[in-house]
Amino acid sequence: MRKVVLAILSHPDDAEMMCAGTLSLLKKQGWEIHIATMAPGDKGTAEYNREEISVIRKEEARNAAKLLGGTYHCLEFEDVYILYDRESINKTAALIRRIQPSLVFTSSPTDYMIDHEMTSMIVQTACFSCGIKNLEISEKPFDPVPYLYYCDAMEGKDKLGNPLPPAMYVDISTEISIKAEMLGCHKSQRNWLLKHHKVDEYILAMKRFAEERGTEINVDYAEGFRQHLGHGYPQENVLVDILGSLVTIK
Ligand SMILES: [Zn+2]
Repeated sequence: MRKVVLAILSHPDDAEMMCAGTLSLLKKQGWEIHIATMAPGDKGTAEYNREEISVIRKEEARNAAKLLGGTYHCLEFEDVYILYDRESINKTAALIRRIQPSLVFTSSPTDYMIDHEMTSMIVQTACFSCGIKNLEISEKPFDPVPYLYYCDAMEGKDKLGNPLPPAMYVDISTEISIKAEMLGCHKSQRNWLLKHHKVDEYILAMKRFAEERGTEINVDYAEGFRQHLGHGYPQENVLVDILGSLVTIK
């Protein structure tokens, strides 16, 4: 198996919030790390225009990925307007074909923001299409379909407030400081919340949630995942093979 992982989520900082600890564990096992966002985070500001904040946030995401020696990619869609359509599927499939990951992490299929749900569906289709010859893009098809995992939804709940329990937990206790450092690269978001809350709510909220997930399996910090197990996708839980006892199945 090629040791290449792609975390492709909606906005800059989503991967840092939801799967950076697991990415760091993979990095330690020699995996090549790619972090991609569908949009540049162009609505995540109260002070800059879209172009300005997009440049700032992509640089922040690039710096975060660099901490794992990883590469950052932006598909340049727009916050709030991530759509499940031909263009988004083709661009996402093209990125996946260029990177040829064995392992893909994406947003939860159910989440607080439609951007996340659309991303989840787009990535599902783009992974499934990696070997489809007649998909009309220039990048060459490849096999097999990558292992696809969904990250936790924001605060681990659906839009009706019901808990969305993970199917598995990764113990990231040893990686919490690098995860915090990666999240801290998103200075524009961190300072925005700092100004608003007067405390470092950005980092604190991430730690609170990782701690909550950790408590559920009696470790300090954890990240939760669910695997896409639909027809045509690999069925083994490869995360267990890679990370061993750091993975707890519920
Ligand atoms: Zn997001």
